[in-house]
Amino acid sequence: MISALILDMDNTVFPTSSITDELFEPIYQLLEKHKDKVGEENIQEIRKLMSKKAWQKIAEEYNFNEELTKEGADILRETTYNKPITLFDDYALVKELAIGKHLVTMGFTKMQWSKIKMLNIETDYQEIVVNDPETTEDTKKEVFERIIKKYNLNPQEVLVIGDDPESEIKAGNDLKMPTVLYDRMNEYEDKHATHHIHHYSELKAIIERYQD
Ligand SMILES: [Mg+2]
Repeated sequence: MISALILDMDNTVFPTSSITDELFEPIYQLLEKHKDKVGEENIQEIRKLMSKKAWQKIAEEYNFNEELTKEGADILRETTYNKPITLFDDYALVKELAIGKHLVTMGFTKMQWSKIKMLNIETDYQEIVVNDPETTEDTKKEVFERIIKKYNLNPQEVLVIGDDPESEIKAGNDLKMPTVLYDRMNEYEDKHATHHIHHYSELKAIIERYQD
């Protein structure tokens, strides 16, 4: 039986592309300023990565110097989004499921909370965890472990739902939790998660399969 859901937020609850350009404009400007060192081609790649990866990870991957890494973090730490954000049209099908839900999202604390507020989803969840790489070394795996323990759950009864095979799906798989890859854009092969869906209309039947 599935007695709890853990959801990711970015690209799982709403499409980040709807806010990315506005949200990251100051970062794009910063990258332009450092264009000589970063390189035009890399800048284009980084623009695409901004909504998918933590700044700290991008900085490592592209060998940013200390100044650029710090300047970017200083900007992002204070960046918030303050206009209403539209949920995925099928999110309502997740919301209506009568199962306890937890939201676990990774990123800068202020930014993630501003999105949660603008999405108006706070009351959909029993608990919301913003895992901020600036304040913790924990990955989603450690957060999931804490939730399982806190609510006295078995990993097998907690369904992890997300769009990233390398993040929440990997954490769930590692902990032997059932996982659902929400592959809205048809980006992935059918091998990363226990279940692979393209629309939340498929979710209810998956959950029902776990009933004994
Ligand atoms: Mg995501």
